[in-house]
Amino acid sequence: MTASGHVRLKPGDTIGILGGGQLGRMLAMAAARLGLKCQVFSPDPDSPAFDVVLNATCAEYADVEALELFANDVDVITYEFENVPAATAMVLAARRPVLPAQSILETTQDRLIEKDFVKRLGIGTADYADVSSVETLRAAIARIGRPAVIKTRRFGYDGKGQAIIRDGDDPNQVWEDLGTKSAILEAFIPFEREVSVIVARSADGEVECYDVTENEHRDHILKISRAPAAISDELATQARAVAEKIANALDYVGVLAVEMFVVAGPGGPQVLVNEIAPRVHNSGHWTLDGASVSQFEQHIRAIAGWPLAKPIRHGQVTMTNLIGDDVLDYERWLTVPGATVHLYGKGTPRPGRKMGHVTEVRPGSGK
Ligand code: AMP
Repeated sequence: MTASGHVRLKPGDTIGILGGGQLGRMLAMAAARLGLKCQVFSPDPDSPAFDVVLNATCAEYADVEALELFANDVDVITYEFENVPAATAMVLAARRPVLPAQSILETTQDRLIEKDFVKRLGIGTADYADVSSVETLRAAIARIGRPAVIKTRRFGYDGKGQAIIRDGDDPNQVWEDLGTKSAILEAFIPFEREVSVIVARSADGEVECYDVTENEHRDHILKISRAPAAISDELATQARAVAEKIANALDYVGVLAVEMFVVAGPGGPQVLVNEIAPRVHNSGHWTLDGASVSQFEQHIRAIAGWPLAKPIRHGQVTMTNLIGDDVLDYERWLTVPGATVHLYGKGTPRPGRKMGHVTEVRPGSGK
């Protein structure tokens, strides 16, 4: 720690990573390239990130003793998933700096708090309403109209914990099927495309955005990302400004992803924020091969207190996720000219499970 309270790691120092999935794995690999060590904490003995670090803690997130020992072994702590339990973050933050800060989790773990926060910044979102009972759901549908999207406030991902409400759907049934007491109803957005911005912010307030990425989902799971997005320079500037504003307002340290919808507006296309992910993000995987410095290294630099890179994109980049059985095709991908294959070392492919990804970079700016 420096006198100002900022973290300033030296090569050889150790970063603690909560979560042992592919994001933790790729963070640890980026840290290693910079001469930094990582220790991974995960309750899953089969964590893909365990394979690439020397020191791992396999324990539950509620195991205070294990958390304390872990904290004592590391110099700064970060996480690869946003649902870190508040109590876990508190135990760790009492011993070591946790970056991004614990308070950010409170905003981003709850869709209602997150939407209120974005709205307060004057940034556009889908119209939304707090829903806590079938009565409030009926009132929300009456105000917002159909189709609409109902989402659980907490623990939703890859389309889980959400449903579209169409004409004829019975609110009682929808509420029963969702099985929660706290949700939000959002207007269904007939978007032109989905984009995201990966933004990095340092403790000094320095901010660097990657080029806007265009994302294609299949079955609610990201399938393909393309950078740059096929949008005008004006809209790209608007999207990056939104991400920067969010990162600054959160006083964020690390890499953050902002997912947005592009919609037709009165003065041309505009962006609406869908979701904030306080971590490295699947739609930024293209940066591993398609930019001078990846989102993973950018995150490590930010939490280490090192200068952020000014990332330069190498060309027009396409990232394809290998989901479930897609990964069985890895040998074919290995022979595709120009393709870079990333496999996460996960055991059995299951439907919807992210097993790896492939990046292809073509010459040209894409502009
Ligand atoms: P989320 O879990 O909020 O990221 O939503 C997953 C996906 O569902 C998004 O990437 C969109 O494709 C779709 N989606 C979510 N919210 C809406 C909405 N309000 N209108 C239209 N599509 C949506």
